[in-house]
Amino acid sequence: MKTNSAYSTMAAQQKQKEKLWDAVKTSAMVLGTGLLIFTAFMNSASWYVQKIWETSGNFWQTAWLNLYNRFEGKEWSLFLFGAALVPALAFWCFNGILMVADVTGKPTFITRYRIQLGKNDPVDTKKLRQAIYTALFNQFFISLPMLVPMFHVMKWWGNTFSKELPTFQWFLVELSIFTITEEILFYYSHRLVHLPLLYKHIHKKHHEWTAPIGVVSIYAHPLEHILSNTLPVMTGPMIMGSHIVSIAAWFSLALITTSISHCGYHLPFLPSPEFHDFHHLKFNQCYGVLGVLDYLHGTDTVFRQTKAYERHRFLLSLTPLSESIPETPKRAE
Ligand SMILES: [Zn+2]
Ligand SMILES: [Zn+2]
Repeated sequence: MKTNSAYSTMAAQQKQKEKLWDAVKTSAMVLGTGLLIFTAFMNSASWYVQKIWETSGNFWQTAWLNLYNRFEGKEWSLFLFGAALVPALAFWCFNGILMVADVTGKPTFITRYRIQLGKNDPVDTKKLRQAIYTALFNQFFISLPMLVPMFHVMKWWGNTFSKELPTFQWFLVELSIFTITEEILFYYSHRLVHLPLLYKHIHKKHHEWTAPIGVVSIYAHPLEHILSNTLPVMTGPMIMGSHIVSIAAWFSLALITTSISHCGYHLPFLPSPEFHDFHHLKFNQCYGVLGVLDYLHGTDTVFRQTKAYERHRFLLSLTPLSESIPETPKRAE
């Protein structure tokens, strides 16, 4: 009897081993095939991207050389043009369009995409004027002077005024590093200004807008504008010693994305602003930009249980919000 049961246990173990081995073989085959298809796809995709880039790359290189020659080696002027003028124009053009919608409520279809329904409908013009003045103050008297030390760092360390543009692949690598750097510095500096004492004296100003609009992205106390808005965006290019064209593109992109995340409209084909809008609504949730650090620190747990999160997950919202998931916003406090 004992021998029989020992035999059956051994047979069962053998069978389990075979089963496990089969599962490993199947997984390896599926993963291997997947990897092969993925590699083949990536190879052909990157070949096409490379071809397109080679053609358009020449165009951008020539355009850059024309601009470079026009400045005749005046590096400071070139730096001001790329790091201040281009991003400021991008910011004000984009926010100009948003403000038309905020003030006039036109085009009428846009109001149906408003996250906090019934808010800023239309926007309080006195409050708006104040936000514009503060934004201009921060750009002229905080961001602009901060470009002086940055210019010297770039001259000493960077490849900022090279005649040769960076490759598109390198620009993508830089963009990823800029984004990660911004996420880390913004998340922790933002949590810092939420400490009661700093909140009261510094960050409260930014939170006067519980339903923000685009221009509120840089409506902040000067110290917060240095610590949370400007330094997290400037640090990436300083670490990488980036080209002025990369800096211009990154600063513009950062200003436009922060304007989107404050704009209050979850528009189709634009990144979802639900995450930061929720921060303005509830104060103690969603501190970061990407949401990675909020996930790791558990500072998005309330947000994850809301309808706003459901809409946020579908990055492209194709249905006007007033017709999709109704939700009455409530303050946490
Ligand atoms: Zn904000
Ligand atoms: Zn905050």
